[in-house]
Amino acid sequence: SEENDLGIKGGIQVKWREEDCIQCGVCVKACRSGAITHADGKITVEESKCNFCGRCVKACPTEAWDTVHGYIVSFGGLFGNSIHKGEPVIPFIADKEKLLKVCDATVQFFAEHANAGERFQFTLERVGREKFEEKIWEAYNG
Ligand code: SF4
Ligand code: SF4
Repeated sequence: SEENDLGIKGGIQVKWREEDCIQCGVCVKACRSGAITHADGKITVEESKCNFCGRCVKACPTEAWDTVHGYIVSFGGLFGNSIHKGEPVIPFIADKEKLLKVCDATVQFFAEHANAGERFQFTLERVGREKFEEKIWEAYNG
């Protein structure tokens, strides 16, 4: 999804549930991002490293995780003559209504500022990413 002007992919936000954990350590090995540590009987997820893949949940033998299914959104992706990985602006989105508000704000920004035939990343570079991010945060919070 990061190749797209506006990229959306599904994700799973995870929260460890201590009472159901049997301390097997499988989730630590399952996490490819190195986001999980297991020490003194506690599982800790480092949020900045988590990519919401849900592998820890799927690997857990006792389903010792609470989960929220949602969306990860990125902006300004390009793949072709120019390559640019779409970048996130806002955190994980848990509800669809918020996702749609963010999408609407993105499309509106594009309609107002893009030159004919211009890919979104080039619009952002020309107009200023900060200006766009302001609009996206408004939509996210509003
Ligand atoms: S959701 Fe994925 S990245 Fe996040 S802690 Fe679980 S396995 Fe690691
Ligand atoms: S895989 Fe599940 S049971 Fe095993 S340590 Fe992780 S949370 Fe606990």
